[in-house]
Order: sequence, then structure tokens, then C-alpha cells
Amino acid sequence: MLVGEVLVANGHAEVAEEWLTEALDVVLRRQDELESKPSDPAYDHVAMVSFEVLQARHGVRHELGLPHDEYDDLADELMEELEDSLDDGAVVLFLPQPEYDEALRSWPDLAADHGATWDEHRATTEQELRMRAEHSAGGLGVIPGTADALAEFARTAGSEQINAATIQAHRDSLVDSGIAPIPWPPGRNDPCWCGSESKYKKCCLPRV
Ligand SMILES: [Zn+2]
Ligand SMILES: [Zn+2]
Repeated sequence: MLVGEVLVANGHAEVAEEWLTEALDVVLRRQDELESKPSDPAYDHVAMVSFEVLQARHGVRHELGLPHDEYDDLADELMEELEDSLDDGAVVLFLPQPEYDEALRSWPDLAADHGATWDEHRATTEQELRMRAEHSAGGLGVIPGTADALAEFARTAGSEQINAATIQAHRDSLVDSGIAPIPWPPGRNDPCWCGSESKYKKCCLPRV
């Protein structure tokens, strides 16, 4: 995608389109292979990459005035789905350092989707918010959670596993309970949303 952007910026949109098409073929093939095991942590990641490549290619082809092909139809379809799924605004559940460390000890599988370390967890959260900011008009924010509250929530919900779905559901319950999220993004010189007390521009802003 980066190569594609550079090519477009330098007036080689046709070449960019070829690169992106090749990339899309590869990543969709990989996604196909994983389709039979959607519980594989790699699946979500590959699906996200294919979505982004699909959109990038779609944009370049529009710029070139090319007619829609099957991939373009898919790009539009998926974008509509995404827009529907993002209400006006989005809040992401985030665990401060001691909480995340504890959560990882209890549920090592969290590492796959949410980061193998706290730094990765912050980067993943920042990335998710940035992705959402591109596609949603409303306010964005983070809600800091705790490992205990997450465990308690999972217990009441009757699930032993803590996975992406549990985290989403816990987030929803916190939002419903009226907890005010920390607005995102902070000003560049304001304290970072992650609670590090560093300036945003020196903390999570460059982390992605
Ligand atoms: Zn289109
Ligand atoms: Zn930070």
C-alpha cells in the first residue's frame, strides 16, 4: 500500500494499480486458506489487510477512471457494511498497564488480537481509533477497563474465555452504564489518552 501511495504521488497510478492488484490476489488467497478456521488469530488480521488493500486499489482505479470490476464491487459492499457497523462515534475499551499485564497473565490468548505487550496494546488501540476516525463522523474515545471487571463480566455472561467478542460486549456494557469515555484524539501537546502522563505527540501518536 505504501508503494502504491508513492507511485500515485509520483504520477504512476497505472503501476500502482498493478501492484495493488497483485497484493490483493495474494492476500485474498491467504484469506481463503484461513476461511475454514476463522478462530485462527491470523484471520482477523488478514481480513483487515485485504480490506485496506481493496479500498486502496478501489481509490486508485477510480482516480484512473477505470470501470468497476468484481473487486471494486466488493470494496463498495464492504465499505457500506463497515459504515453501517460504525455508529456515529465509537468507544474502544483499553486496559492501563498493570491491568493489561494482569489480563495477559490470566488470558494469554489476548496477545493475538490486543498486543503481546502493553506497548503493543496501546499501539493496537491507537490504530483502531485511527481506522475508525477515517470512517465515522462522531466522537471517538477510550474507556479504561480493569482485568477484574473483565473477568467478572465474563463470569456473569457465562463465558470462560476472554476474546475479542467478550471485550466488545464488556465495552458495550460500560458504555451503557454511562461511563464517560476519555475523548480521542487528545491535542498533540496534551497528556496522552493511555495515562502515561507523556505528551500525546511523544507517546501513542507516533506509536502506530
Ligand atoms: Zn466504487
Ligand atoms: Zn500514550
